Amino acid sequence: MSRAGTIALIGRPNVGKSTLMNALLGENLSIVSPKAQTTRHRIVGVLTRGQSQFLFMDTPGQADIQGKAMNRLLDRTASAAMADVDVVLWVIDACRWTEIDDIVQKRLLRQRPRVLGIILNKIDKLKDKGRLLPQMGRLQQAVAPEFILPLAACKRGSAQTLLDQLEDYLPEGPWPYADDTLTPHSGEFLVAESIRQQLFLRLNQELPYATTVTIDKMEVQAAGYEVHATIWVNRPSHKGIVIGRQGATLRAISQAAQKRLAKLFDQDVHLHLWIKVREGWADHEDSIQSFGYGATD
Ligand code: GDP
Ligand code: MG
Repeated sequence: MSRAGTIALIGRPNVGKSTLMNALLGENLSIVSPKAQTTRHRIVGVLTRGQSQFLFMDTPGQADIQGKAMNRLLDRTASAAMADVDVVLWVIDACRWTEIDDIVQKRLLRQRPRVLGIILNKIDKLKDKGRLLPQMGRLQQAVAPEFILPLAACKRGSAQTLLDQLEDYLPEGPWPYADDTLTPHSGEFLVAESIRQQLFLRLNQELPYATTVTIDKMEVQAAGYEVHATIWVNRPSHKGIVIGRQGATLRAISQAAQKRLAKLFDQDVHLHLWIKVREGWADHEDSIQSFGYGATD
């Protein structure tokens, strides 16, 4: 009998949710960076293994840190992901508990998921492994999850153990997707996310948070995908920073994104990037919505 189920990865920013999702899928679908809130959308990844189809949802980090419109939206997306799934995986950094983890814990107790599993991530960084057991004891006591699994998302092998664990919680039923599907998201969406990842990796401080990306045109040609995209910035002064000296930054962004996308699509991808100014877009929920956030795709 086939099984299929949805699994949401939740937790505060930077604990390794996207890294774990990619490890589970064996593909770099969700974008990862050392900066908080890289993940702005709910990203769905599909894995079919044996009789089971796992639908993973990577969510933006929980909790309202700055109180801006973008933060509220990130928070809502995470809430929606929790409400309607078969399993919630709460990812925690085993080395660092913060007040935002407290907020997530409170929310989980209030909005009790059907099945809750806890991942204590980054144990490769934990110097004193003796700290794991008391931490697991405290969490068991406080939230009574179905399981607690310490692991290092960045290490090979962790994903298999977790998949074995999760399989038992998938309901019996038909698969929603073909067995070779990696994601239901459109190519346009994946390209925009890839460009955004490079903005996060290559720009400093607040700048990545003040940018977004739209796809103007994407077509398949004999030589691969031709994509025209716009990077939106908040201020005229940001434009120069994204372009860089003699266009060096923009070129690096474009080349790195092209490389990642070529792997993901198994085809050459040619990006044509423009930069435009739209002031204050991150502060206005309306304009965020008009850029397509808030929807799954
Ligand atoms: P998210 O915000 O929860 O999605 O976190 P990311 O997946 O973007 O990861 C945040 C940072 O933690 C990145 O720099 C990752 O490389 C790093 N990271 C994720 N998992 C691990 C892990 O198991 N061990 C170590 N040492 N670093 C990790
Ligand atoms: Mg993420």
